[in-house]
Amino acid sequence: MVEAVANIGVVGLAVMGSNLARNLASREGNTVAVFNRSHEKTDTLLSEHPEAGFVGTTTYDEFAASLAKPRTAIIMVQAGRGTDAVIDELTKVFEPGDIIVDGGNALFTDTIRREKAVRETGINFVGAGISGGEEGALKGPSIMPGGSAEAWQTLGPILRSIAAIAEGEPCVTHVGTDGAGHFVKMIHNGIEYADMQLIAEAYDLIRRGTGKSPVEISEIFTEWNRGELESYLIEITAEVLKQVDAKTGRPLVDVILDQAGSKGTGVWTVQNALDLGVPVSGIAEAVFARALSSKPEQRAAASALPGPSSTVAVDDPDAFIEDVRQALYASKIIAYSQGFDAIVAGAEKYGWDIKKGDIAKIWRGGCIIRARFLNRITDAYAENPGLVALVTAPFFTDVVSKAQDSWRRVVAGAAYAGIPTPAFSSSLAYYDGLRADRLPASLVQGQRDFFGAHTYKRIDSDGTFHTLWSGDRTEIESEGSSH
Ligand code: NAP
Repeated sequence: MVEAVANIGVVGLAVMGSNLARNLASREGNTVAVFNRSHEKTDTLLSEHPEAGFVGTTTYDEFAASLAKPRTAIIMVQAGRGTDAVIDELTKVFEPGDIIVDGGNALFTDTIRREKAVRETGINFVGAGISGGEEGALKGPSIMPGGSAEAWQTLGPILRSIAAIAEGEPCVTHVGTDGAGHFVKMIHNGIEYADMQLIAEAYDLIRRGTGKSPVEISEIFTEWNRGELESYLIEITAEVLKQVDAKTGRPLVDVILDQAGSKGTGVWTVQNALDLGVPVSGIAEAVFARALSSKPEQRAAASALPGPSSTVAVDDPDAFIEDVRQALYASKIIAYSQGFDAIVAGAEKYGWDIKKGDIAKIWRGGCIIRARFLNRITDAYAENPGLVALVTAPFFTDVVSKAQDSWRRVVAGAAYAGIPTPAFSSSLAYYDGLRADRLPASLVQGQRDFFGAHTYKRIDSDGTFHTLWSGDRTEIESEGSSH
C-alpha cells in the first residue's frame, strides 16, 4: 500500500520535467512524486538525485496514491498527443477537486478544450506557460498559469515557491481562466522572436557598417547591457558573439549555418494575431525572416540579383553604433507594444481579465525576454490601465521621440546599402502608420467599393455609402437610399 506522502507530483521526466521536479523538491515543505512513461528516466532521476527525496512511481495508480488530497500534478510531456494521453490517464485515477497542471507548450485553444473537458469530471485543469528553458525550470522560471480561481488557491503557493524572483517578487500570477496562461506564453514567445531578430539585425548592421569583428561587437553588446537595453537576450548575444569555433579558430557565428529554425510558437502568435486583427508586424517579420533564411534553393537562385554592395557608408563608427542602439530600443518598444495589443485583443475575445502590468512584472525574471525596461511597462499600465497602445505612454513616447532620427537614418541607410532589416523597417513603418493623421486606407476603401460594392464611410456625415462608379455621374447611396 502506497502512502499519500507527496504534496505535488510531476509527470514527464525529460529535461524540463526532471528539472522542475528538482526545483520543487528543493523548496521547504515539498515532497514530490514523480512518474514517467518509460521507467528508465524515473530510475535515473532517483539515482542521480537522492537528496531530492523523490517518491518514484511506476504506474498512474501508484502515482495518484502517493499524492495527498487534493492531488496536484504538473505534466511536463511532449505537447500535443502526449499531453492528451497523460490527461486521459490522470483523469482515470484522480478525483473531483484534484488539480492537473499542463506546464508544456500547449496551444491555448487546446488548453481551452482540455480545461472544459476535464472540468466536467470535477477535476481542475490548469494550463500554465513556463518560460526559461531547462535552467529556468531548475532555478526558477517565469510561470503563466490559467485555470480557475479555485485551483489557483491551492496552486499559487506552490508555484510562487519555485518561480524566479525579480526585485523580491515571484514571477508568477494567475493570468486568467482556462487558456489565458498559454495564450500569454504564446505572446511571450512571439515577442522573443521579434527581439531576437532585432538584435540580429543590429549585429549585422554594425558588422557591415563598421567592419568590426564578432568579438568587438560582443563588447558593444556587453556595454549596451549595462544601460536601458539590459536584458537576457542582449547578455547571451554577447556570449554567442565572442565564442570561437574550436575546429577552425573562426568566430563560431561565422561557421553556424545561417538558416534559422523554429518550434512554432512564433507562427501561432502571428496566426492568432491575424485572426484577432492585431498588427504584430515585428513578430511576423521575425517569423518570416526565419522562413526566408531556411530556403537555400531560393537564396542560391536569387544570389545574382542586382543590388548594392551590402555595406553602409559610415563616416563616424561610434555615431553609427549609437544610431543602431537607438533604433534597436525604439523597434523593441514597438514589438512589445504590439505584443501587448495582442494580449488585450485576446483577453477581450476570450473573456479573460488579464492585468497587463502584472504580465510585464512576471516577465522580469526567469524568462527569455526578461529585461530592465519591463518595469516601465508595468508603470505605464499602472498609470493608465486603459492605455490604448503602449507606445503612447509618456515614457515610451519620450524614448521613441529621442530615438527617431537615429531610427530613420538606420532604416534608410540599410535600404540604400541593400541590407535586409525587416524588423527594424516594419517597426518604423508601423510607428509612422500609427501616428499618421490620414492613411491611404481611404483609397483602399474606394477600390473595395469600386469592385465589390463594399461601401465606405465619409468624414463629413454618418451612414454607409456606395458610389455608382460607372458613367459620368457619381451617385451616392446612404443606408440603402439613393440621393
Ligand atoms: P519533450 O522532449 O517535449 O517530451 C518528452 C517527454 O514526454 C518524455 O518524458 C516522454 O516520455 C513524454 N511523453 C511523450 N509522449 C508521451 C505519452 N504519450 N504519454 C506519456 N508521456 C509521453 O520534453 P521536454 O523538452 O522536457 O519538454 C516538456 C514540455 O515542456 C514540452 O511541452 C515542451 O514544449 C515544454 N517546454 C520546453 C522547454 C525547453 O526549453 N525544452 C521550455 C518550455 C517549455 P518517455 O520518456 O516515456 O518517452
